[in-house]
Amino acid sequence: MGLNYDFNNIFAKILKKEIPNETVLETKHSLAFKDINPAAPIHILVIPKGPYVNYDHFISNATDEEIIDFNKTVKEVIEKQELDPKSNGNGYRLIANTGINGVQEVPHLHFHILGGKNMGFMVSKT
Ligand code: AMP
Repeated sequence: MGLNYDFNNIFAKILKKEIPNETVLETKHSLAFKDINPAAPIHILVIPKGPYVNYDHFISNATDEEIIDFNKTVKEVIEKQELDPKSNGNGYRLIANTGINGVQEVPHLHFHILGGKNMGFMVSKT
């Protein structure tokens, strides 16, 4: 995948409010919303509002303010959903599918936060 950001991708449309979303948390630079096709009882996506295709694109080009905001949003969602083991939560899985081998469907950086059940092995070994 090249790193030309597609301004018409589905998450860009969510950010432009062209399509609805179930917002969990919104900050100056980030948006967290429920995945439309959840793979676990809790399945939340966190995205930066800026036009970043994937994690390394984001880290290489975003401002420190955006990077801090994004990471704190991830943390706040984990806390808000009571997933954090330090607060007696049962844990979670944090995923960033990237590119072809990562099987990324939407070309706008997103972290999946999954919880509410045992997620099993990380990837199929076959
Ligand atoms: P990925 O394969 O990591 O790119 O995952 C993309 C995720 O976006 C999938 O889990 C989809 O269910 C989710 N998704 C696609 N369209 C929407 C939407 N309109 N609102 C919320 N989640 C969506």
